[in-house]
Order: sequence, then C-alpha cells, then structure tokens
Amino acid sequence: MILTATLTCPACGHTTREAMPEGYSPVECVCPSCASPIIAKSGECCVFCAYSDAYCPPRQRLRDGCCGG
Ligand SMILES: [Zn+2]
Repeated sequence: MILTATLTCPACGHTTREAMPEGYSPVECVCPSCASPIIAKSGECCVFCAYSDAYCPPRQRLRDGCCGG
C-alpha cells in the first residue's frame, strides 16, 4: 500500500509529497506554493488519482482485492 504521493499542482506545477489518508480521498486541497485550489474534476476519484503519481488507498485496496493481493 502506497501512503504518500507526489501531488502536482495543475496551476503552477509545484510538486509536494503528501501523505494520503487511508479510507478517505480528498476531492480538493490547496497548493502550498501558489494557494490555488486543486480540485478533482467530476469523474476523477480524488486529488491523488487526478494529480499525483499514485492512486489513493481505497482505490489501491480495490485493485488489490480484485487481483488477490
Ligand atoms: Zn500551485
């Protein structure tokens, strides 16, 4: 299970290492560099699935369950 992700701000391109809360996927957060809101568009699971290099823990768990771990 990956619990940290590199989140990339779509407004300024700033990357930040973020801890991903288990069992909860934020659909929005604020860029620590430019203070722009980072919002997952409809159809995207959360900010991590949309703008980071990893899927969020609930989605990782779904995938693991599907493939037998
Ligand atoms: Zn930014």
